[in-house]
Amino acid sequence: LNRQEYISNNTATSRDLHEKAQEVIPGGVTANIKHIDPHPIVMEKGNGSKLYDVDQNEYIDYLLSYGALIAGHGHPAVFEAAMEQMREAGTTIFGTPHRLETVMAEKLVSLYPSIEMVRFTNSGLEATMLAIRAAMAYAGKSKIAKFEGHYHGGYDQVLMSVNPDHGAAGDPTSPNAVPESLGIPDYYQENTVVLPFNDLDATEKILRQRADEVSAIILEPVQGGFIPADQTFIEGVRDLTEELGILLIFDEVKTGFRLGLGGAQESYGVTPDLTALGKVLGGGFPVGAIGGKKEIMDILSPAGSRDILTAGADQRAKHDTLFHSGTYNGHPTVLASGLATIELLEKDRTLEELFDKTNRLRNELEELYQAYNIPMQTVGLGSIFNIILADDSIKNYRDLKKADTSLRKELDYELLNLGIYTKPLNRYSLSTAHSEEDLKRTVEAHKQAIENVMK
Ligand code: PLP
Repeated sequence: LNRQEYISNNTATSRDLHEKAQEVIPGGVTANIKHIDPHPIVMEKGNGSKLYDVDQNEYIDYLLSYGALIAGHGHPAVFEAAMEQMREAGTTIFGTPHRLETVMAEKLVSLYPSIEMVRFTNSGLEATMLAIRAAMAYAGKSKIAKFEGHYHGGYDQVLMSVNPDHGAAGDPTSPNAVPESLGIPDYYQENTVVLPFNDLDATEKILRQRADEVSAIILEPVQGGFIPADQTFIEGVRDLTEELGILLIFDEVKTGFRLGLGGAQESYGVTPDLTALGKVLGGGFPVGAIGGKKEIMDILSPAGSRDILTAGADQRAKHDTLFHSGTYNGHPTVLASGLATIELLEKDRTLEELFDKTNRLRNELEELYQAYNIPMQTVGLGSIFNIILADDSIKNYRDLKKADTSLRKELDYELLNLGIYTKPLNRYSLSTAHSEEDLKRTVEAHKQAIENVMK
């Protein structure tokens, strides 16, 4: 049996359920990324830092629903806030404005240096989509720019050069726009400029050539949640965009509340024009938000934006406002649990302790791998990191290709068997619920995994 197959020994019920699911759900998964070979592990309970699968195996969870669950599974304060909201309201949703929308908007304005006004969406994907639409309307140019390897949700405009095949990716200093899915119209490839992350000279060269066409740059200040932008790079991009009349959008869906309460923009001291948020903001429920300068955000007002638009005269004649809708936008239960989560994070030293814990785990893992002479580094910031099996410094998408992913994958399957959950090759996100005992068990499991792989 190879390693991938033998997870099936402990997860027979998962395998059976997956077979059934495949009859009615393509691939048996509700998002392509949820597939793992030979079959996903089907979970049925969560508690604090732990997940339990349908065969009653226990896992220390480092996926945390792709980083959303910063307080762990089922935190009592978060649970209670959602339930109390429903009990008090006597309903799940009003379909009208309600108080919590303003409470949460005020909270985001107070925490995020660049945010003066807020709109809510139901996912991070919708948030980046809306930010891009607002930026396109405001700046009135035909293209957007994004960085190679950066993920902003699974829709046409940004599902470009996220994980491109090396052959297709082109020159590292002027990457090609490579669609990542079937069904993406050519329009998006033609109208997306792809930039190399953490390479300011190459980015500047491309931007100076394309400035007249590019409305906005969208970027993850920390690529994939774990490769930080260099301080000089992110400052340089801010200066360039200001000089060239290009809006700057920070996608803080992952970094929001995880690098600090004010996200990456607070820790870097760099102010974007628009910010997309999600994940932690919903306390485990579906959510997204955009925020930004009043001058730009006012474009979204139904009162009309005739006087606000600075460009795009022909559009202005047809539409006097930028359309944004969503049956569930600003859902009260979601906002209640999100607010309860933020309140937990606002308590003294909560985030510092989370970062300390994360750093300790990173150090111990690095020491362990070093003891076995396996080239390894942890790459990350705040409460997220990834394990990269390479000595070279990792600054962007191309650098990631230097890592030994086949060994990492073998170790990840061993770790699944040993009760450490993250998707193979995925990053590690920590929560306030992870205990010292969890960290100890995690390091021991890595030791065992290394021993097993080296046998
Ligand atoms: N942007 C970033 C940086 C993300 O990490 C994600 C999700 O992983 C998204 C956008 C999309 O968010 P959602 O999955 O809530 O649509």
